Amino acid sequence: MMISEKMNAELNAQIAAEFTAAHQYLAMACSLDAMGLKVLCKWFTRQYQEETQHARKIIDYLQEVGGPVELDAVDKPTRDFADVDAIVAASLEAELDITRKINEIMALAESENDYATRSFITWFVDEQVEEVASMTDLVNLVKMAGGNLLQVEARIRHEMTAAKS
Ligand code: MG
Repeated sequence: MMISEKMNAELNAQIAAEFTAAHQYLAMACSLDAMGLKVLCKWFTRQYQEETQHARKIIDYLQEVGGPVELDAVDKPTRDFADVDAIVAASLEAELDITRKINEIMALAESENDYATRSFITWFVDEQVEEVASMTDLVNLVKMAGGNLLQVEARIRHEMTAAKS
């Protein structure tokens, strides 16, 4: 095994954290669909897919470095959000929490002179900058719209179409 047992445990915990984030985003997507917000539902579904890919990336890494993969329980998602504001605020909090966890893994890699994991986790450090930025944009967009959710939907539809081309 190329990494320490402690690092192995941290990375297994991160797999569970990524799947928990995925599960929470999927629950939010379902809440948004139930509110009739189809575009926001699609955007959150894409977040859900990204989080499962993050978990997959860590699984692949652990298999490469010979650390046993131990899948853990996924937390029960919150479903009773009052409105879209509550959903985006909770999402931003969750992304900041994931960022702290990724930073802790980076700090551990540095303290252990674990250059392989440091190199691997750098991708996640960069990814979290993007995730926090895009969620902050969404929080601000919802705030600016002042309850006009059709405007939020139109803007996000436009951005998602632009991103594809
Ligand atoms: Mg993630």
